[in-house]
Amino acid sequence: MAIGTGSQELQANTRRPNLVYVFPDQYRRHAMGFVNEDPVLTPRLDAFAKEGVYLPHAVSNYPVCSPYRAMLMTGQWPARNGVMANCNSSRTHLDNFLKKDAYCLTDALSDAGYHTAYLGKWHLDGPPSTPEGERAVWDVFTPPGPRRHSIDFWYSYGAANNHMEPYYWTGDGGEDSRIDIKQWSPEHEADQAIAYIRNDGGDYRDADRPFAIFLSINPPHPPYHLVPDRYRELYTGKFVDDLLVRPNVDRGESGNKRAPGSVLDYFAMVSGVDEQFGRILDTLEAEGLADDTIVVFTSDHGEMMGGHGRMSKNVIYEESFNVPFLIRYANGIQARTDDLMLGTPDIYPTLLGLMGLGDRIPDAVEGVDRSSVIRDGSGVRPDAAAYMRLPPGRPSGGPRGVRTHRYTYQCGRPNQDAMLFDNTQDPYQMDNLAGKAPDLVKEMVGQMEAELERIQDPWLDRRGG
Ligand code: CA
Repeated sequence: MAIGTGSQELQANTRRPNLVYVFPDQYRRHAMGFVNEDPVLTPRLDAFAKEGVYLPHAVSNYPVCSPYRAMLMTGQWPARNGVMANCNSSRTHLDNFLKKDAYCLTDALSDAGYHTAYLGKWHLDGPPSTPEGERAVWDVFTPPGPRRHSIDFWYSYGAANNHMEPYYWTGDGGEDSRIDIKQWSPEHEADQAIAYIRNDGGDYRDADRPFAIFLSINPPHPPYHLVPDRYRELYTGKFVDDLLVRPNVDRGESGNKRAPGSVLDYFAMVSGVDEQFGRILDTLEAEGLADDTIVVFTSDHGEMMGGHGRMSKNVIYEESFNVPFLIRYANGIQARTDDLMLGTPDIYPTLLGLMGLGDRIPDAVEGVDRSSVIRDGSGVRPDAAAYMRLPPGRPSGGPRGVRTHRYTYQCGRPNQDAMLFDNTQDPYQMDNLAGKAPDLVKEMVGQMEAELERIQDPWLDRRGG
């Protein structure tokens, strides 16, 4: 029948792009070789960056694990989605977990006809509450059903960190169906992602539908020493002074004690992640899918690695707040560097926009669709990004800040000084201008409050209180 043929043709011509969203944990923007900051070896990312759009000003608005993941999945700020801190058993009674009725990015993709996959760390569910004073439980099984948010191929765990002996739950089995693996987790997860992309045995996905994969690799998250020697050997002959090169890292007696012993392993993990990401790119190429697939490489937050005497994240300093964001879509965007300050809640609507699904962005999404900027540089660019940290269950609490293309400002709290940095003049944020430039402080307070107004942050309610 003519109508049938016509609709089949239409279907073939309007097949949506696939999505491969790769987000290793704690991978700072500076740890990509082409950026020329950290002395890392990342040949695959260096080549990939030239093939797509690179956003050097992308940020993680609340730079810690679960809040990032919840913003990614819901497109909402933590005060609305309820994930105000990392999920663990001490916070479950505060409803600090992803709600099962949230309409997530994977739900939207599934409803638009996608086959969806999630591999690696989830860290969005609340383990059963433990009594106060008891050691908190972090990892938890996510049962098949609404808590998996329409994800068809589930190969995941909650929050475990043994990179050499990872475990996963997959399929419809119960908690006792856990699979224990003896392989470096990024390599094992890349193997699974590759099998899914190739659709080995026809078992992984419905080949008639476009697919969307979220690959949540745990390294370069601690423990840093859990990395294969072959990646460590890439840095043979390098000493601490060759590796900890940022001027804001004190390498002397008063510096952070953990950074010197961790930095080589951190960079080794970065190189390992680069290699595994490259294997996925090679598979897309070999399967003839490279042009029709949107590929994103980003992270949930960075790593201080001794900067300002700190390790880890959850602070406004660039090493923590500024994240990699590379996106390739050969059939849909022009390769370039763009100063778009993409925030975490913007990712959900922006990806739907790039996939031609802008009309499916739910009203509940608070992020802004920046797909036109990524596609061809047109459209509105934000000039500020909010920084936040929330005590679980108390969305009006905690510090706030703002980052513009030039400045970083964090307001002071009792017993804590405000911070203001001119990132153009002082890229390592070593000269705090908060006590020296009152007019600039006033301007930045105004910019921060305007941004917090825009996103309806309850923090503003306590002003003057
Ligand atoms: Ca994390």
